[in-house]
Amino acid sequence: MLAARPVQGFFRSLRTRANWILIAILFVVPWVRIAGEPLILLDIPQRQFHVFGMVIFPQELFFLWLILVALALALFFFTALAGRVWCGWACPQTVFSDVYAGVARRIQGWTRAGAPRRVARWRSVATHAAWIAMSAVVALHVIGYFHSVYDFLGALATRHWAGASAAFWIAVTAVCYLDFGLVRQTWCKYLCPYARFQSVLLDPESLVVAYDAGRGEPRGKRAARHKGDCVDCGLCVAVCPTGIDIRKGLQLECISCTQCIDACNGVMARVGRVPNLIAYRSLAALEGRRTRLLRPRVVVYGVLLIASCIAFAATVAQRNPLSLEVERNRTALYQRMPDGRIGNSYTLHLQNRDRRQHVYRIRLEAPASAQLVAGVNPLLIPATGTVTASVFVIAEAGDVESGAPVRFVFEDLENLDRPIVRESTFVAPAHDEDEEEVHAG
Ligand code: SF4
Ligand code: SF4
Repeated sequence: MLAARPVQGFFRSLRTRANWILIAILFVVPWVRIAGEPLILLDIPQRQFHVFGMVIFPQELFFLWLILVALALALFFFTALAGRVWCGWACPQTVFSDVYAGVARRIQGWTRAGAPRRVARWRSVATHAAWIAMSAVVALHVIGYFHSVYDFLGALATRHWAGASAAFWIAVTAVCYLDFGLVRQTWCKYLCPYARFQSVLLDPESLVVAYDAGRGEPRGKRAARHKGDCVDCGLCVAVCPTGIDIRKGLQLECISCTQCIDACNGVMARVGRVPNLIAYRSLAALEGRRTRLLRPRVVVYGVLLIASCIAFAATVAQRNPLSLEVERNRTALYQRMPDGRIGNSYTLHLQNRDRRQHVYRIRLEAPASAQLVAGVNPLLIPATGTVTASVFVIAEAGDVESGAPVRFVFEDLENLDRPIVRESTFVAPAHDEDEEEVHAG
C-alpha cells in the first residue's frame, strides 16, 4: 500500500529538491574521473579504495576507520541536534522509496483526491515494469561504486558480460526493486538498526516532528464546540509513509520526513486555524521549557566530530606515498663473490599509494664500507603500482660483522626532504670459516 499523496507545502518542496540533489550526486559520482582516477571506488578485487583523490590500501584501513568514525559522530551530532534528519532527508532508502512511490502514483493516475478507486491491470503492470527499469539504472550506479562503470558498460557492449558482473547486476536490480518498490519504509519501521538506537541519541531538547497535544486535543470535527484545533481529518496518518499516528507522541517509527507537517498545515489553512499544530520542535518546547541548541551531549559529539576530522586531515598530511618493506633473502645466508667479498641479497617491496608515479633513489647508509649493487637504481614506481626488486650488499670479507645493521635510504627524487629508512641485517661467515677457506685455498 502506498501512503496517500504527499501534500505540497514548504517541507515537501524542500525535500523534493534535496532528493533530486542527492540522487544527482549518487548518480554522478561513479562517472567522475580526475586525471583518469575514480572519485570513489571500492575496488575489492584489487584491494584498493579510491576516496576523493586518495588510494587507500588494506594496510591503511585506519583511514577508512577514521572516515567511518567521523560519519558515525556526524550522525550522533545531527540526531542529538535535529532528530532523524538523516532518515527523512538524506537516507537513500527514503529518497528512492519516495521516487518509486511518486512514479507509481503518476502511472496509476492518482489525483489530489487520492488513489483511483480501481487501478487498471495495465497500470499495475506498467508500475512494476517502471520500477524494474529504474532498479536496473540504480543498480548500475550502485555497482559503479565497486567496479568501474566504464569497464562494466564496455564489457556489456562486447558481450563479455555473461559472468559474475551480469549476475551481480541482476541481483542488485532485484534487491533495489524489492526494497524501494515493495518494502519501502517498512525497512525503516522494522529493520533499520539506526532506528533502534536513535532513542539513546535523542533528548527532550532535540528537534523532532511533534504534535502539540495541548493545542490539538480534544480533537473533533470543526462544527463541534469546545474542541481542540485537531479536526481529526486523519490526513497526517494517511500521508505518513510509515503509517503511524504522530498524535500519539514521538515514536520509534517516525523518520522525520515532515509530510504530516505539510498535510496538517494545509488542513489548518483550510479551516482557518493557526499552522504548526504538527511542527519541527523539541518536546521541551511543547512543555513550555527553553530549548538549548548547545547542550552537553551536542557539544561532546561536536568536539569529537571535529577531533576526528582533524585526526583524519593530520594523518593524510603525514601520509607517505611510499610503502616499502625490505626482506633479506633467506634461501642463502650469504654469497661468496668471485673476488672473495661477501654478498647478501635483499628483496625490496615498494608500493606507490599515490595517483602519480614516483622515482626513488636507493642508497646504502650502513655499513659504510659496503657497496650497494642494484639492477635498476633509481626505481620508477607507477601510480598506485607495486614494484619488487632485488639488491645486493657486498662487503670485504671480515670488514662487516655478522648481524651488523644494514640501513637502506629511499629518496623521492621530487622530494628529497623526506627520505625513508629501512633496516635489515648483514650475515657474514664466522672468522674461522674464513680462515679455513683461506687454508683450503
Ligand atoms: S509521523 Fe510525520 S514525520 Fe514521522 S514518518 Fe510519519 S509523516 Fe513522516
Ligand atoms: S492532519 Fe492535523 S488536523 Fe488532521 S488529524 Fe492530523 S493533526 Fe488533526
